[in-house]
Amino acid sequence: MLRLFNSLTKKVQSFQSLKPGVVSLYTCGPTVYDYPHIGNWRTFVFDDILRRTLEAADYKVVQVMNVTDVGHLTGDNVGNADLGEDRLERGAKREGKTVWEVAQFYLDDFLQTRGLLNILPPTYFVRATDNIKEQISLAETLIKKGLAYETSSGVFFDVSKFSEYGKLGGQKLTDKRVAAREEVEEDISKKNPADFALWLKTVGKWKDHQMRWLSPWGEGFPGWHIECSAMALKYLGQTIDIHTGGVDHIAIHHTNEIAQSEGATGKKFAIFWMHGEFLTVNGGRMGKSLGNAYTLHDILDHGYDPLSLRYLYLTAHYRDKLNFTWDSLTSAEHALNNLRKEIRLWREPGEIDVQYWQRFLEAANNDLNTAQALAVMWEMIKADIPSSSKGATIIKMDKILGLNLIDEIGKKIEIPDNIQILLKKREEARKKKDFTSSDELREEIRKLGFEVLDTPSGQQIKKL
Ligand code: AMP
Ligand code: ZN
Repeated sequence: MLRLFNSLTKKVQSFQSLKPGVVSLYTCGPTVYDYPHIGNWRTFVFDDILRRTLEAADYKVVQVMNVTDVGHLTGDNVGNADLGEDRLERGAKREGKTVWEVAQFYLDDFLQTRGLLNILPPTYFVRATDNIKEQISLAETLIKKGLAYETSSGVFFDVSKFSEYGKLGGQKLTDKRVAAREEVEEDISKKNPADFALWLKTVGKWKDHQMRWLSPWGEGFPGWHIECSAMALKYLGQTIDIHTGGVDHIAIHHTNEIAQSEGATGKKFAIFWMHGEFLTVNGGRMGKSLGNAYTLHDILDHGYDPLSLRYLYLTAHYRDKLNFTWDSLTSAEHALNNLRKEIRLWREPGEIDVQYWQRFLEAANNDLNTAQALAVMWEMIKADIPSSSKGATIIKMDKILGLNLIDEIGKKIEIPDNIQILLKKREEARKKKDFTSSDELREEIRKLGFEVLDTPSGQQIKKL
């Protein structure tokens, strides 16, 4: 039975989809103005583990991931959706390109990197700029329902009209967080400082904004939050099973998505809300200005296998902070390489080991406890059961872990001729029960970079 922590109820609950056998999953995707950092990738890997665990529970998963290529202003993350600088324009200025070129470049990079981390492609991977019509129409619905209003600078959601505003993060409009926004508020045309933009007109501060579309309110561009509500509605319907993102989205982005979606449809937007905790670096916040917002390219440049990073993510529960250090990545790489070496020793997969598989699945189904799942996997690897069972079981486990372990099974190790000769000699020594020579030969082989293991089916060789 799959149990997941729901940020809305703050409880671990049994999961059951609305429609039998199918799960609708909406995952907030990347803003394509720069390379994602390894914190962003942690959240995307968490989404992927969730998706794979649902599939292991025999659900067909219809997953939408959005690509934010418009409207994400630097003020958004502190709740001022109409303030700050446009991230895409910032990227364009930095690189001397158009915003469209910047978006395409980082989108392509995202797709490539996603593959390196073995993240499954979502069913729908959709760009905000391809869904402008839907965002305009949602804003129109909200105006008609009296939940949004037009000003000289744009269209804003009136948070005072949505009685459940803030239910996800447990905040009230009188909260300090909202009050603090008043201090930085510039737009006096809004009724309430917490009101957020659904549409911004290309006037005043935004008059030179590169991305712009015609709307009932003149030329302009959408706010950030509205894209997710509009695309979830279009591709998944009014109520979805699960919506995910990083913890920083709870207070603002997801709170505003709920207000827009539930305000427009009158239906519950998502049954489950799930959030991945942050990755920290050297015990602290990750930031471009701190020089520690590493990207996957940094990981590759340091000579690491990207799947070692995936392994590192799996060692922690997604609701716990994970601290990244280069040493922790090195340990993860050793663990993954040891795992691969073990697997290469196995014979062709046969029957699965039901007990280990069940224990592994129980860990994954227990709110995606990947750390526990890895522990069960390692226990199986060391267990005295036939390697053909280990092979069959690890293939199933890897459907959730996504470490490409299947590629290792049956991978033949090239054994050089000199090692073959030493192995033959050692076999003869063992037949004669000459263990001194046998041990000396083992040492000689080790010095040449191979390890001999004595198994019931004879000598096995492992590359060091
Ligand atoms: P963005 O491209 O900025 O919209 O972020 C993509 C995803 O990464 C979002 O779900 C964020 O919540 C998440 N995120 C941002 N910073 C971190 C971090 N340090 N650790 C984990 N996830 C993060
Ligand atoms: Zn979103």
